[in-house]
Amino acid sequence: MVRGRVLNGMRPTSKLHLGNYLGSVVNMVKLQEEYECFYTIVDWHALTTGYEDTAQLQENILDIALDWLSAGVDPEKCVVFVQSHVKEHAELHLLLSMFTPLGWLERVPTYKEQLRELKDRNIHTYGFLGYPLLMAADILAYKADTVPVGEDQLPHLELSREVVRRFNHLFQPVFPEPQAKLTRVPMLPGIDGRKMSKSYGNHIPMSAGPNTIREKVQLMVTDPARVKKTDPGHPEVCTVAAFYKVFLPEGVDEVFAQCRAGSIGCVACKEQLMDLIIERMAPIYKRRSELEKEPDTIRDILKKGAERAREVAATTLDEVRRAMNV
Ligand code: SF4
Repeated sequence: MVRGRVLNGMRPTSKLHLGNYLGSVVNMVKLQEEYECFYTIVDWHALTTGYEDTAQLQENILDIALDWLSAGVDPEKCVVFVQSHVKEHAELHLLLSMFTPLGWLERVPTYKEQLRELKDRNIHTYGFLGYPLLMAADILAYKADTVPVGEDQLPHLELSREVVRRFNHLFQPVFPEPQAKLTRVPMLPGIDGRKMSKSYGNHIPMSAGPNTIREKVQLMVTDPARVKKTDPGHPEVCTVAAFYKVFLPEGVDEVFAQCRAGSIGCVACKEQLMDLIIERMAPIYKRRSELEKEPDTIRDILKKGAERAREVAATTLDEVRRAMNV
């Protein structure tokens, strides 16, 4: 049976948090069993919005690799590499840019959204406008047919599919149209109830040890209407409750019933949750602590991954150059 090929990229902008772990990394570990997977740390993408301060970039690359590997991404089962180590991505991006209409890039919803949101940064740049095309190059360099995405990233993938159709029509049918593999992402808010994000300071790092997990859970916002332990609670407005849905799906109804009946206090409820998160993350924390002592091993994995990736990307680029007569 021929396995499909997956491309998944992640920006090295910071260490990953629990939301990233449950929303993406868990899925990567599963997919490596079923598909031929290329997992890339997309450092050039990090530059499209963060070109002014790159001091942390190399450290962030290593952190993402550590987070992936400690969670079970296995370089024996998939290809793990850094985007900028495979220069073919840049060449393909350039070649695709020759026939991609500007309007296609300008109408990607996140383009205008981020221009509005990231007002503190000057991202009126050529690189930022072109990042969805760089993403297309990342996918097409491996002729990946399957791309795990959340709903919000569907327009990016649609752009890649349009680029494929245009290339195959203008030159030769070189690329398959990549298909979205929609991932069901469990909803995990930050400890203040907003979306979990490092920039809000409301995240729990994936690499957090037991003490940090305890501190973060202590700070979680609960039902504000509950003053006494015996007051009936409302799990639907409680951040702790949202975590229970993810970390104790089989027991969540019982906890919610106790909350509504006022038979469990928020302190006890949080303590139980701390234990659940600590237990679930313990093997990852342990592996990470060991791997952290071996940065050279990580660098070696990334180097070997780039060699394997380059072999595939170079073959694609040969075909592309031939088709375009360059
Ligand atoms: Fe939230 Fe638990 Fe308190 Fe209910 S008992 S409000 S679920 S922390």
